[in-house]
Amino acid sequence: MNSVDDRRDRTAGSRNGGATVKLFIQKVHSPQQSLNDSLEEEVQAFLIDEDQLHTYDDLTKVNPVTPTTVLKCLQARYSAKVFYTHAGCTLVALNPFQPIPHLYSLDVMKEYHCAAQPQEFKPHIFIVAEEAYRNIQGQLEPVNQSLVVSGESGAGKTWTSRCLMKYYATVASSSSVLTSQDTVDRIERRVLDSNPIMEAFGNSCTLRNNNSSRFGKYIQLQLDRCQLLVGASVQTYLLEKTRVACQPANERNFHIFYQMMKGATDEQRKEWKMSHDQSFVWLPNSEKQVEEDCFNETVEAMVHLGINEEKQREIFRILAGILQLGNVSFSSSSNESQPCDLNEQSEDFSQRAAELLCVSVEELRTCLRVRTLKAGNQSVLKPCSQAECSVRRDCLAKVIYAQLFEWVVTFINNSICAEKSTWCNFIGVLDVYGFECFNINNLEQLCINYANEKLQQHFVAHYLRAQQEEYVSEGLEWSFVKYQDNQSCLDLIEGAPVSIFSLLNEESRLNRVSDAKMLRVRLEKELGDNKNISWDKFSKVPHFTVTHYAGKVKYQIEGMVEKNKDPVPPELISLLQTSDCPLLQQIFTDLETGNPTTKALSKVTVVSKFKNSLESLMRILHNTTPHYTRCIKPNPESKPLTFKKEEVIAQLEACGIVETIHISAAGFPIRVPLGSFLQRYGLITKYRSRRHSVDLKADSNNELHREVEKVLSVMLHLSCDGRTSMVHHGKTKVFLTQAMLDILEGQRRKVR
Ligand code: ADP
Ligand code: MG
Repeated sequence: MNSVDDRRDRTAGSRNGGATVKLFIQKVHSPQQSLNDSLEEEVQAFLIDEDQLHTYDDLTKVNPVTPTTVLKCLQARYSAKVFYTHAGCTLVALNPFQPIPHLYSLDVMKEYHCAAQPQEFKPHIFIVAEEAYRNIQGQLEPVNQSLVVSGESGAGKTWTSRCLMKYYATVASSSSVLTSQDTVDRIERRVLDSNPIMEAFGNSCTLRNNNSSRFGKYIQLQLDRCQLLVGASVQTYLLEKTRVACQPANERNFHIFYQMMKGATDEQRKEWKMSHDQSFVWLPNSEKQVEEDCFNETVEAMVHLGINEEKQREIFRILAGILQLGNVSFSSSSNESQPCDLNEQSEDFSQRAAELLCVSVEELRTCLRVRTLKAGNQSVLKPCSQAECSVRRDCLAKVIYAQLFEWVVTFINNSICAEKSTWCNFIGVLDVYGFECFNINNLEQLCINYANEKLQQHFVAHYLRAQQEEYVSEGLEWSFVKYQDNQSCLDLIEGAPVSIFSLLNEESRLNRVSDAKMLRVRLEKELGDNKNISWDKFSKVPHFTVTHYAGKVKYQIEGMVEKNKDPVPPELISLLQTSDCPLLQQIFTDLETGNPTTKALSKVTVVSKFKNSLESLMRILHNTTPHYTRCIKPNPESKPLTFKKEEVIAQLEACGIVETIHISAAGFPIRVPLGSFLQRYGLITKYRSRRHSVDLKADSNNELHREVEKVLSVMLHLSCDGRTSMVHHGKTKVFLTQAMLDILEGQRRKVR
């Protein structure tokens, strides 16, 4: 945790209560320390009535700002069923874990949308939504907006993204939707319908969230000249496709499979070759009742988006084929020159899988068990070991599922994306996986945490650094809140010339089985100087530990290179290309070149692909005005209205909220160029009559400064008690707190 080293006496006004209180920026301990400190002591230091804590709409107004006081405020609000709180430039959203009646109703949308000053209403996700919407109308540069929703799994990101989409589908609709929900149709309806489909295919029930998104998503809502929603486009990131063939203990596969199982008609069961009592290896925990197991809703959304019955049939047959494939198992062969045998029932399962995937059963069985090695023009057939057969089976399922998911996303885009000539601005909503730290972390977590580092860097760059650097350039005396610059961590992961990614890629290019121990030695040799990487020398399992901005994560090296290569045996792709199913043929053909997708599938490593897609996302974010919402999961069990302090503080720290609050609270959000300042407030003093052109020359610049100084001193005198720290006189601007602005405006009204 960062600290503000000096104890400075500052004063700030409370905007809410109107009263002025002393703000003490005191040394901030680490959150854990503060928590363990006597809470009593902290409470003593509170300058506000604890009974009123829940009324503080902005954490920057809590006084003093320490992790403990911020926590107490959030807790008080949560108990009072207030779930949104501003934290300066960020909105904090606490997950209630139960439906809150009317919180997102049409009337509430209307209230925020029609308000003259939505910011004066209670904090709500609709304030963020409306602010972004008005920014576009105001044509402030940059015009396009991004709503970045972050938080750990189960914190409420996807819920929040859905709320935002519903908001725009309502307020930016050309029909008079503010009078009737039913009229949200056409493009608005289709944009909203993309959610249940993508969630059916990309979400799953995990230990942390019954409806956990297993992919990242950036959706751009396209607005025309009149700010009406005319379309949308979706970009997805890193689907966790391993889940198709391997579900972590007590977790499930993607929802769509369970939806099919539970929602199928007898006729469909027959078509999908699944009897009522059939169990599937790849469908664990199917007895669990999950709200999302709603097949009809998915099918209805597919219909709305234009996925016709024929295509739906193809999709479901492919999915059913994957399930049958999961039941195929192998026994080891007694003779190494012979392929493994299929286990007894696997003959049947493979037969059904082949029929559903519309491929030859013989070829399917061969592909799963025999490798084709190319030596010059010659092909050599080599039987696979039992373990290799299972890997090939899983690989086949993963590649089909991943390609199918991409096809679905492309279809959605084709259905909802507006013609470029019809839209001019967009509001992007980013819903990506939060920081992850499990007992065993591998390449997936490295990618996810890397994405979070990138987003954190963007956040830091946008708010904290810009603010502090402006203070420096303006010559302000300022006790810096030290923020964590995570550049060295990013250098470690993705930098040039050597980084974890570059070494993984190098290793992946070599045509050999990777040795985790050797790779660890290499990483240590090449990257050992970076302070963000460390090793436990005595650990038996080769690993490395990265110090991320949100905490340390230990990554297991075993399997990383293989995951990075993500090899798909070409025989499997060739098999799929022979399928009689038009959809399979289509998804295994490169649409642009019309060539088979074999090359594209195997060449680019996972980290390179991910890095590229993330870089293009960051470019978009840099060219938009960002709005940050931090979702917080108040307890790990997803219990309604339960607030666990340790959980919350860890998340506040992980997303840098306390630092943000510090800067916002102690900062000067209002900046007025000197000339404009004199023009507006000069009349408070007799200096008003002088000329105050903004672009004065050198000597007149001194005069300008002198006059501003005079105004400030008169004003400070007028506003009694000399609250000098509410205002700063910079080189080109006057910096003010909101409270001081209120005083100035009051004075201005009086003397006019
Ligand atoms: P994330 O996407 O961050 O992993 P979700 O958005 O899926 O988390 O939220 C997890 C669950 O929490 C949801 O399924 C829902 O039950 C509940 N939830 C989240 N936000 C809210 C909210 N604002 N009001 C009520 N329930 C919510
Ligand atoms: Mg989610």
